[in-house]
Amino acid sequence: MLVDPLTLWNTALNQLEVQLDRASFETWLRGAVCLGIEESDEEPLFTIGVRNSYAVDMLQHRLYRTVRRILSDVYGSAVTIQFEVHHPTEKAPLADDQEKPLFRFLSQQTPPVTEEMSVPMPLHQQVARPERAELPECELNPRLTFDRFVVANNNNLTYSAALAVAENPSSIYNPFVVYGGVGLGKTHLLQAIAHACQQKGLRVIYIPSEAFINDLVGAIRQRTTAMFREKYRSVDVLLVDDIQFIAGKESTQEEFFHTFNALYTFNKQIVLASDRHPRELELLEDRLRSRFEGGLVMDVQLPEFEARVAILEGWAQERDIHVPRSVCEMIADRAHSNIRELEGLFTQVVAKARLGSQPLTLNTVETMVEAFERPRQHGRRAISIEEILEVTAVHHDLKIKDLTSKRRTGRINHARQVVMYLARELTECSLPQIGDALGGRSHTTVLHGYNKVAEMIMEDEVFRYELMGLREKLAARDR
Ligand code: ADP
Ligand code: MG
Repeated sequence: MLVDPLTLWNTALNQLEVQLDRASFETWLRGAVCLGIEESDEEPLFTIGVRNSYAVDMLQHRLYRTVRRILSDVYGSAVTIQFEVHHPTEKAPLADDQEKPLFRFLSQQTPPVTEEMSVPMPLHQQVARPERAELPECELNPRLTFDRFVVANNNNLTYSAALAVAENPSSIYNPFVVYGGVGLGKTHLLQAIAHACQQKGLRVIYIPSEAFINDLVGAIRQRTTAMFREKYRSVDVLLVDDIQFIAGKESTQEEFFHTFNALYTFNKQIVLASDRHPRELELLEDRLRSRFEGGLVMDVQLPEFEARVAILEGWAQERDIHVPRSVCEMIADRAHSNIRELEGLFTQVVAKARLGSQPLTLNTVETMVEAFERPRQHGRRAISIEEILEVTAVHHDLKIKDLTSKRRTGRINHARQVVMYLARELTECSLPQIGDALGGRSHTTVLHGYNKVAEMIMEDEVFRYELMGLREKLAARDR
């Protein structure tokens, strides 16, 4: 062959830069090098080295045809391409580095990524950060499946509809909207659908709308909206939780509307949860509202007494403890506003009984439940994130400064996650606000921390008791 592969590739790369949108090119192809070419009787095989495995994935699956077409044009006949991760220092690309001017060689090196780097950095560097890579946006709670959802008489229709959506996504109810008050099982149903669809091998994103908004804001700031779109529009099933938070946010609604339309046009399933009926979502653009209402809108209600007892029995079984039926009934009777309240009472009772080795009788439980309910009768006082920081720091024998610093030892990290959890549970702060209070951490990190603690609470009785102690301390501060 007369022309060397490096020149060929660089020519193709120049054309790709013109043809692709800027964000895609910058994110996936900037700095890509030709690592080799294997001639064969059929199509020659080009090996192209790119920055990270995300780029490999993207190029192999989404941009392959474009890159192949352009490289084939430049080469003069059809070629095959394989992409692999290439770190410039590991293996020299095809060109002779000895002869390459130093500045050119250096310009191809990926800069080291450090914690100190300011936030607005190109997305390709962000995704390469290990912290980011470990955190899929749509982390699902393994507990929230259909088989753990107790079907009460008054949520039976909603449950069946959710199951039908999970069994036949995109074919019956699209979009599927679940609405209802706090702690009535909306997230549980959304995640159950997500699990079922994932098991079918579908591409699923489950995301709370706050996280969607933050992702969008980040993408606009980092000029990676094309990637943002690509990410949300390439799924088979998109589930957005707590959609009420996008009401009143114009640019988010606009973007969401387009995402919605794109998915809808390609017959992809959309599932939404809201704390009220879409028609009551104030400041929601009409076109978006009518889209929501165009699908199936179902409500969730508080399961009736028998179902609440069944839910408690399910939890007891999950944790492998015996809770007498009379105790379950008493708790079910007390918790009549939502399932979260039921969960709170149950958790308290079980933890106290285990650690204090008190038997679970109607009497002992009655006393515990009363103690639990007492602080509320004072009327809820707002707890600030500063108080949470202080109480958590003292409890872990740390300074507040440690929690807001960049340090990442196991102990500090753990305490920080406890703050994330408590702040999300006890204050009105949004994920980014919590992240800010902890020294500028991303909303994804906060969400991850929250989930981690929530999981530990389910699994570790001692930890659960410890956390309850912290909550009590916080609640007691004004008394
Ligand atoms: P929402 O999203 O509506 O605020 P969640 O889905 O987070 O409520 O539910 C709160 C808790 O109650 C979760 O632990 C969930 O698993 C549980 N829960 C709610 N409804 C049911 C149900 N019908 N069966 C079993 N658990 C339920
Ligand atoms: Mg929810």
